[in-house]
Amino acid sequence: MDNAIFSTIDQITQRILNGGEMTAEEGRWMIRLDDDYLPWLMAGADRLRKSYRGNEIEVCAIANVRSGNCSENCSFCAQSGHHKTAAPAYDYIPAEELVAQAQQAREWGASDFGVVSKGWGMRSEKEGAKLEEYFTAMDAGTDIGRCASLGALTKASAEKLKTMGMENYHHNLECAESFFDQVCTTHTYQENIDTINNARAAGLRVCAGGILGMGESLDQRIEMAESLRQLGVESVPLNFLNPVLGTPMGNQTPMSPYEILRAIATYRYMLPKAEIRIAGGRQFLGDMQSMIFMAGASGVMIGNYLTTQGRSVDDDLKMIRDLKLEVRGDTKQRRGRQDQAVAAG
Ligand code: SF4
Repeated sequence: MDNAIFSTIDQITQRILNGGEMTAEEGRWMIRLDDDYLPWLMAGADRLRKSYRGNEIEVCAIANVRSGNCSENCSFCAQSGHHKTAAPAYDYIPAEELVAQAQQAREWGASDFGVVSKGWGMRSEKEGAKLEEYFTAMDAGTDIGRCASLGALTKASAEKLKTMGMENYHHNLECAESFFDQVCTTHTYQENIDTINNARAAGLRVCAGGILGMGESLDQRIEMAESLRQLGVESVPLNFLNPVLGTPMGNQTPMSPYEILRAIATYRYMLPKAEIRIAGGRQFLGDMQSMIFMAGASGVMIGNYLTTQGRSVDDDLKMIRDLKLEVRGDTKQRRGRQDQAVAAG
C-alpha cells in the first residue's frame, strides 16, 4: 500500500470540502485505484455526501406506464422493438392504477414518483392528453413529487409538461458521447443534451445519469461524469447493466461489487453536490448493497424497475434506517420542494 495514494485522496477530499472540484484527470486516476484503497476512498466519499447532501436519503419509485415495441434501438434495453426479449408489451395503464402505485410509493416514504413511458418523446396529442390525465389524477390522489421520463423533449413539449404541473424530468445521457454509437443509432447524443437543456429552460429539475458496465472504458465513465457536471445536472441516477437476453448486450459480464462501489465513490467526487441515486443493477452488489451510501450515494430507487423486479422495499427501508440515515419523504412534505444541496462546511 502506498501512503502517497492515501494522502492524495485526502487532499482531493479536502479541496472539495473547501468548495473546489476534482479534475477529470484525477477522476481517471481515482476510478483505477486498486481494491485495497476502496475503504479509504469510500470514507472520503461519505464525508462529501454528508457535507453536501446531509443525512437524508432521497427515495423514489417509478411506474412503467407503456412498455415494449419501442421505435429506438438502445442496445441495453429489453423494451426496444429491435430486439427479441421477454419484456411485456402494453399500452397506457389506467390512471387509477398509476395513482395506486404512486400512493403506495408515498406510503413507503418516496418523495418522487416517475411516470416512465417507452418511446422517444411526447409526440402526439394522445400522449399529451394521457399525461394530463395522469398528472391530474396524481394531483388529486397524492402529494408525491411528479417526475416523468418520456424520451426527447422539444422546448414546446418541456413547457407543456411544466404547465401540467410536472416538477422533474428524467432523461439519461446513458453513457459517454464517445461510446454512444455502441449503444444507440436511432437518435443522437445531441438530442439527449438538447432534451436536458430544454427541460431545465422550462423550469424542470433534471435527473440525468446513465448505465455503467455496458462495455465502456473507465475513461468513458469519467467522460460521462464530466458531461453531467458541465450540464449542471442536479440529480444523477446510476444504473449498472443488467444484461438482458435477446439484447445486443445480453452477454456482458455484470460489474463486480468493488467496481460498482468505486464508480459510485468516484461520481460523488466528480459531482459532490448532486443527488447521486442508485437505480437498476443494485443486485450485483449482493450483500454489499448498504455500502452504496458509504460510497457516496444519497438516493435510491425502490420497488420494481422498468422490466425487472427490485428487492423488497421493507429490506431497503430497514437498510437505510439501520445506517442511521433518514428517508427524506418521511419527514418532508414533498410537493413543491426546491432542491438545495446542504451547504458544505
Ligand atoms: S431506453 Fe427508452 S428509448 Fe431506448 S429502447 Fe428502451 S424504451 Fe426505447
